[in-house]
Amino acid sequence: MNLEQSNPAYKHSLDCVHCGLCLPACPTYQTLAQEKDSPRGRILLMRAEAEGEIALSEPSLGDALDNCLDCRACESACPSGVQYGKILEAYREKLARLPSRNRRARFLGSLLDNLIASKSLHRLSMSSLRMAQALGLQKLATVLPFPRWMKEGLALLPRIPKGSERCPIAPGIYEPTGPKRAEIALFTGCMMETLFGRVNRAALRVLQAAGCRVHVPPNQGCCGALHLHAGLQDRARPLVERNLRAFPKDLDAIIVTSAGCGSAMKEYPSWMGQASEFSTKVQDFTEFLANLGLGFTPRSVPMQATWDDPCHLCHGQGIRKEPRRLLAQIPQLKLIPLEHPEDCCGSAGIYNLQKPALAHSILDRKVKDIQKTGVRILITANPGCHLWMESGLAKLDEDYQVLHIAEVLAKAL
Ligand code: SF4
Ligand code: SF4
Repeated sequence: MNLEQSNPAYKHSLDCVHCGLCLPACPTYQTLAQEKDSPRGRILLMRAEAEGEIALSEPSLGDALDNCLDCRACESACPSGVQYGKILEAYREKLARLPSRNRRARFLGSLLDNLIASKSLHRLSMSSLRMAQALGLQKLATVLPFPRWMKEGLALLPRIPKGSERCPIAPGIYEPTGPKRAEIALFTGCMMETLFGRVNRAALRVLQAAGCRVHVPPNQGCCGALHLHAGLQDRARPLVERNLRAFPKDLDAIIVTSAGCGSAMKEYPSWMGQASEFSTKVQDFTEFLANLGLGFTPRSVPMQATWDDPCHLCHGQGIRKEPRRLLAQIPQLKLIPLEHPEDCCGSAGIYNLQKPALAHSILDRKVKDIQKTGVRILITANPGCHLWMESGLAKLDEDYQVLHIAEVLAKAL
């Protein structure tokens, strides 16, 4: 068996013709201006490893891949169709198995398993964090003599909303408010369920108004996207299997309100070699609604706002027109275009916790672009970007509001 047959990531890397057209789109190249922190440089390093020119344990390879946000802006920019995400994630899986990195991978895996993937522990940790924030303990911890990394980590934890905002949707079947047009399920996720219950509830109301009978299956859970992006495929497998068992088979679509989760769920077959029937049903909330049509006459929502494309919506799923088409149907909603709307905000799953300095400088550029629009409302569709941009905007003197597109559509009901 030759190298191309035995190593699919290497085969994908051969599609790169080194033209460099992806470099200006890459946030780490924009920030660090080094070839090794560009998509082309990373591909060359991974190819060099496959061809035996450098060892997998070579620090420059690990550093270059750790710095990558997996935002996939390079895929959108590449005229040769290089599937960079597939190459990167295959290499991250290889790196996670290196003895020198195995401890770190195991630590990250158990953190994700316990704090995100386990429903009960995830809910408990979010409630504890909410209580600590309400009592001012999070702020207090940042002035106590803890190590710097711990203080920085504590400062980065998201603000947990009040119980009424978090309150998740009860599992069940929700009937449409008018004639039935589709039979669907709503994926409620992990962070979306505990931090953004209000968004999922808004999405449910809009879907019911659009004529959907909506299943909210009780045993669904975390999609495994964060595990997959970190190269922890083995830990993601049980999460994928749990969702495959949880959703009914005879549905028109499975609707996802988080761009990162939707992108991962559409790609289950290429990562896990399973779930192809399930994945073909997965649709982003905006993609589904724009294609189905609203099915109701939207009321006026007098507001000026701007829209930011989450990376895993535009680059990961190729969805760009759909959210704009939906927002354009709302009377009196004026959408002011954002400069560089497809540039990453620096959140990238847990990248902002792992690489805070780099993530902050990428966020600063996004915040400046938002300020330039002159509006105070930002609309987006991914929980990580939502929290991260909200934290950047909270440091400004003016009051900004960040909304999920489902919340804006719910205002038009
Ligand atoms: S995924 Fe994003 S950060 Fe990584 S190489 Fe591509 S453009 Fe750069
Ligand atoms: S990834 Fe694509 S755009 Fe970037 S250097 Fe290779 S061929 Fe050119």
